[in-house]
Amino acid sequence: MQIEFNCDMCGKLSSDRKSHYKRKKRHFCSMSCYAEFRKTKLPKNEQHAWKGGVTPYEAHRRYVKKNPKRISHLKARRYAREKGAEGNHTLEEWQYLCIKHDNKCVFCREAKKLTKDHIVPLSKGGSDYITNIQPMCRNCNSKKHIHIYEYPELLEAKS
Ligand SMILES: [Zn+2]
Ligand SMILES: [Zn+2]
Repeated sequence: MQIEFNCDMCGKLSSDRKSHYKRKKRHFCSMSCYAEFRKTKLPKNEQHAWKGGVTPYEAHRRYVKKNPKRISHLKARRYAREKGAEGNHTLEEWQYLCIKHDNKCVFCREAKKLTKDHIVPLSKGGSDYITNIQPMCRNCNSKKHIHIYEYPELLEAKS
């Protein structure tokens, strides 16, 4: 059973099977009219309904803005994996470690923005387990180079 209709894009008279026609919300004479409609006329709220009406790029940008810690955590995890480091840790483990250190750098004991420092560097075969990580400010981290500092509280955590 065929049904005739006007294309929602160009208005041309076209036909389709009735069962098909009923299932669809909009009707086009051709794929190119369909593509053109999607590009030019589709209401904003239908474009990316699954992301609350924003483009995937915008959704990602918002996620990054809302979760800066998780993003930098994931970046650091990827870096460690690329270096072939053994083990892994969660963001929660890292946050707990920072709290244990009063959110202060283990080296200068100042409450600065903390970065993950691998006690045994990844380049020296250190693991990415939380027991091999200590919170250190960027400043001290860059001064550390290849020296290995041991901290009693971290040794405690290992055993
Ligand atoms: Zn058309
Ligand atoms: Zn420091």
